[in-house]
Amino acid sequence: MLRPAAATEPACPADRLGTERVLALSTKGGFAVGLKSYPRSLDLADHEVVLTFDDGPWPKTTPLVLAALAHECVRATFFLIGRNAEAYPNLVRRELAQGETIGHHTYSHPILRLLSETKAQENIEKGFVADDKAAYGSAGAAPKVPFFRFPGFADTPTLVHWLESRDIGIFGADLWAADWLNMTPDEERKVILARLDKAGRGILLLHDTKASTAAMLPALLRDLKARGYKIVDIVPGDGRPAFRNAPPGWKSEIEAILAKLLAPHAHGRKQGAHLPESAE
Ligand SMILES: [Zn+2]
Repeated sequence: MLRPAAATEPACPADRLGTERVLALSTKGGFAVGLKSYPRSLDLADHEVVLTFDDGPWPKTTPLVLAALAHECVRATFFLIGRNAEAYPNLVRRELAQGETIGHHTYSHPILRLLSETKAQENIEKGFVADDKAAYGSAGAAPKVPFFRFPGFADTPTLVHWLESRDIGIFGADLWAADWLNMTPDEERKVILARLDKAGRGILLLHDTKASTAAMLPALLRDLKARGYKIVDIVPGDGRPAFRNAPPGWKSEIEAILAKLLAPHAHGRKQGAHLPESAE
């Protein structure tokens, strides 16, 4: 379901990127999207991009990310770590005031696959509560924005089912720069643009906790404008989401990474192997 972003927005100068449209998504019955780990994604049009930022808020970097988004009049979704939201509620409220979508990413960013089902559910739940308290001053039985992303994308079938039964939408990602690895802002920006040009569209994973991401974001947004990309803002709503299925032969990139990293006695775990989102 679409509604124009322009109607209620303050005017944005024509040379800025701007938010092209708002995609209001019903999460009733749940869903899981993002081609890195699921065989479908949101049905974005060619050159449409959803910006997502994980692991914040973080005092050194989140304000820079927010300033870059505001300057280009674009809105993004932030998947918060509950304990960071608890520590920096002012930043969460700034995100909210700026019209960003406040999604959830557990309380303390454990790899949930390594926890018992109960502990995993508790950590997710505690994250919902901490995020909502920081954002809105109180938390209800269900999170106000029912959008969730697994740390390291390490889901389990049971947790996916549990979240879906609670009408939570699960967001993976379609592409990333791998900003959890060391790279210069310039390298990061070029990697994103190359991957985006190849994929043509998608849900982009970034981390507002990363200095390189905060540093390259203004230039990236200008590049997106120059290359004709359009930003889609995702929010909860009534529209049954339209999905686009993965091409034939699709495989989960995440499962291959996780199988290597989480295997007993995995080599490389201590030698710098990284989960897709190991921010801490
Ligand atoms: Zn994360």
